[in-house]
Amino acid sequence: AHRVDHEYDYLFKIVLIGDSGVGKSNILSRYTRNEFCLESKSTIGVEFATRTLQAIFGVDEYDVALERCALLAMLPSWLKIVEGKTVKAQIWDTAGQERYRAITSAYYRGAVGALLVYDITKRQTFDNVQRWLHELRDHADSNIVIMMTGNKSDLNHLRAVSEDDGQSLAEREGLSFLETSALEATNIEKAFQTILTEIYHIIS
Ligand code: GDP
Ligand code: MG
Repeated sequence: AHRVDHEYDYLFKIVLIGDSGVGKSNILSRYTRNEFCLESKSTIGVEFATRTLQAIFGVDEYDVALERCALLAMLPSWLKIVEGKTVKAQIWDTAGQERYRAITSAYYRGAVGALLVYDITKRQTFDNVQRWLHELRDHADSNIVIMMTGNKSDLNHLRAVSEDDGQSLAEREGLSFLETSALEATNIEKAFQTILTEIYHIIS
């Protein structure tokens, strides 16, 4: 059945985090091609983005957030069915601020889920997961649902982090875990569906 964009039962904001180069933006564009950057004024989605951001930040804070470049890229939402309810997932990507450790708390505000990504071929990105968890504890809601994904599973021959290491860290920290490949579209849909379902169970 066709549904238009504003028909939904729940709106969930989910943030993408993890070191630069792990594949966050590709995970997202794999999940939906429906993307645009707030900075590119030509995009037809800007009005929608503005309204949505104002709803999240409040009108005043929205300007401040933009001024500080707290949020340079935002993907609009799309709808998923979770146990018979329509859920609108509004997934936020960074514009590379993670490279300078410059993600501000505005990025995390209102987020009910986080996809924390590392690269299975780069040990350092896995070691930095702890740093990202601290960042979440500092800036995000304490009930935020976190899904960790080890991305680039297609590069198995270059693997520097075993799936077992990923799994044990996830268990220790109480996170959901999957290995993904944005390149081969492995487990991308499943990762988002898992996090949305988990959030839905907490909220409903
Ligand atoms: P971000 O900085 O976390 O947003 O990472 P990007 O999405 O920009 O990706 C960084 C690089 O990794 C790019 O060259 C991508 O083509 C590559 N990449 C992303 N995901 C995958 C993947 O699943 N497999 C492989 N082989 N390369 C990937
Ligand atoms: Mg990126």
